[in-house]
Amino acid sequence: MSSLRFKAVEEAFKKKAAAVEVPSELTSEYFGKYVFTRSIMARFLSEQTIKEIDEAIEKGTKLDRSIADKVAEGMKKWAMELGATHYTHWFQPLTDKTAEKHDSFIDYLDDKPGENIIEKFSGKLLAQQEPDASSFPSGGIRSTFEARGYTAWDPSSPAFIVDDTLCIPTIFISYTGESLDYKAPLLKSLNSVDKAATAVCKLFDPKVKKVFSYLGWEQEYFLVDESLYVTRPDLLLTGRTLLGHESAKNQQLEDHYFGSIPTRVVAYMKDLEFEAYNYGIPLKTRHNEVAPNQFELAPIYGECNLSVDQNLLIMSIMKKVARRHGFRLLLHEKPFAGINGSGKHNNWSLGTDTGVGLLTPGKTPEENLQFITFVVNILMAVYKHNALLKASIMSAQNAHRLGANEAPPAIISVFLGTQVSSVLDKLENSSSDEAIVVDSKKKLSLGIAHIPEVLLDNTDRNRTSPFAFTGNRFEFRAVGSSANCSSAMTALNTAVAAQLIEFKAEVDEKIASGTSKQTAIFEVLKEYIKISKPIRFDGNNYSDEWKEEAKLRGLDCETSVPKILKAYTNEESIKIFTSTNVMSEKELHARNEVKWDMYTKKIQIESRVLGDLTINHIIPIATRYQSILLDNVNKMKTVFSKEEAEKMCQLDLQLIKEIAERVNTIKSDVDNMIEARKKANVIECEEEKANAYHDTVLPFFDKIRYQVDKLEMIIDDEMWPLPKYRELLFIR
Ligand code: ADP
Ligand code: MG
Repeated sequence: MSSLRFKAVEEAFKKKAAAVEVPSELTSEYFGKYVFTRSIMARFLSEQTIKEIDEAIEKGTKLDRSIADKVAEGMKKWAMELGATHYTHWFQPLTDKTAEKHDSFIDYLDDKPGENIIEKFSGKLLAQQEPDASSFPSGGIRSTFEARGYTAWDPSSPAFIVDDTLCIPTIFISYTGESLDYKAPLLKSLNSVDKAATAVCKLFDPKVKKVFSYLGWEQEYFLVDESLYVTRPDLLLTGRTLLGHESAKNQQLEDHYFGSIPTRVVAYMKDLEFEAYNYGIPLKTRHNEVAPNQFELAPIYGECNLSVDQNLLIMSIMKKVARRHGFRLLLHEKPFAGINGSGKHNNWSLGTDTGVGLLTPGKTPEENLQFITFVVNILMAVYKHNALLKASIMSAQNAHRLGANEAPPAIISVFLGTQVSSVLDKLENSSSDEAIVVDSKKKLSLGIAHIPEVLLDNTDRNRTSPFAFTGNRFEFRAVGSSANCSSAMTALNTAVAAQLIEFKAEVDEKIASGTSKQTAIFEVLKEYIKISKPIRFDGNNYSDEWKEEAKLRGLDCETSVPKILKAYTNEESIKIFTSTNVMSEKELHARNEVKWDMYTKKIQIESRVLGDLTINHIIPIATRYQSILLDNVNKMKTVFSKEEAEKMCQLDLQLIKEIAERVNTIKSDVDNMIEARKKANVIECEEEKANAYHDTVLPFFDKIRYQVDKLEMIIDDEMWPLPKYRELLFIR
């Protein structure tokens, strides 16, 4: 019988909170212990070397080999002091995970084969590596016969040590220079938004030299007891439950959200935080999320590139630590049907090297005009590229979250809140004479000058919005929990960069033809406010009316993942990616090939697991239970008359019939799904294949699940082979 399930439940119940080793030092004392931070660098590198690194980062120039040698020597010394024996280039291929290939520091003395071995690490090894990375997805840019891909050191993100290995953050590019990863385009987009935003800032403050893009992510996740997890092939192989009837109680009482954290989980969180602090990840908040067994953590925001790396690192640390606590971590966007999925809100803002937050309302009219300028340009960028932004967060997993009657919808819109909205409305409806006289106190009643006071208590929130202004930043909420934030951040920064370039050009043109700077800015902004209006939506994003209205407004409403991805290669997208030098057209096409292939493979795996589960796990149990019922009916007939027996066995007979019907439906659905898969598999074009998987294979998932979940409700609980939702979600 289903002993495996009950054994797992029993084991899970017995588990107690694991002991956590609490560091004896204050957090501030050991924070970043395993990171080659500035202060650690100062111990291992000369002032001059550090200066040269800073300059290279600042200007984006190549580091001199001799400098790289010095950095490598210092890094090696530091790493070996902490017990490192290996090093690796840590990179972000176009899969869901980071990649690493470890090499030991050891080498022959004098580079000659012999008996003498020493630890070596040179600038060359630090700066560049050619991993035999032929099986990472490249979308055909790098055909396997010339499988050359290079990793190249990103000095703007510090190296760190995991276990015995020095990890060096790197980009991953092809022999011909195309990016094969998430980091390279991100760095380019950060550079381009820096340049474009700095130019716009100079309209207001000539002292600004650099603009930073900031990111603060909020990572949602589920924990499931490990014993239960391993008895669910779907969790094990796909990260989500493909079957499972809703638990009688799930999140309807909202008693989990912000509730007291279960003890085993608190121990996990503490352990995780100590680890995170070792790696210089400034985790700040932790709490229960809405769904049972769902939690969230968030750091203090930081520079975008570093923050992305830290998120990738924390995701892998989270997995490791979970196992120490007898849990498995689920980062899947929708591990359970019927309850909330997991996202990763990307809190994003721009700020200057002079310390001004460009999305923070200022104290003076000048500052506020700058604030409004950035808000309006961001609105324009999101409006023009709403399809692209959606594509940047879209995946087979996230599709379950978006547009599935749950936050956020598969339509990108912007929530501004009443305060900022009313400022924009006033600006839009003022005549340009009115609007431009910034220095006349009276005309400032336009609203611009009033922003700081009013916004102080901006508690305006709209939890249904996929892209919301929250006082000093925008929150891109549609990002999925397992995603590499780079994808969203690259698209957003690029779109905003391109928009700011256009804005600056328009303003400059007006100024050149004799318009004053202020008037020029106002005129262009007014125009933008009008044009970008369709992207502003403060209402309920989950409502059906919104879907209708969004269509009328011309926003992208596509829901099929493979089709959404096409937005990467539409004319507008190609234009902004190429004009900002973030990605070439070839790279954009190649990436879509990879994404379609990835989509196909994910659905294919899920479909196979679903077939296996139903045919080999569920149907045999269903028929076994059915035959027990039949036995009972037959035995009754030996004691009572046929009529009497049948009357008494009415329920049994009903169930026997129901099981037969459901089993037959499942069987034929699974057969048809396999048939659809076979047809899709022979399609050569990645795009068409992904479409075929979406249109012809995926629709069977819900149908099959529906029948199986009904069977779960009628079959003897003792026989049911898979841990049930109530067990997965409430044992902790
Ligand atoms: P909430 O749940 O209210 O949205 P959290 O505290 O969970 O807020 O997370 C907010 C995230 O936004 C944190 O990572 C925080 O550091 C970050 N954040 C705050 N201000 C900014 C900003 N100006 N730019 C980018 N991120 C920010
Ligand atoms: Mg938030």
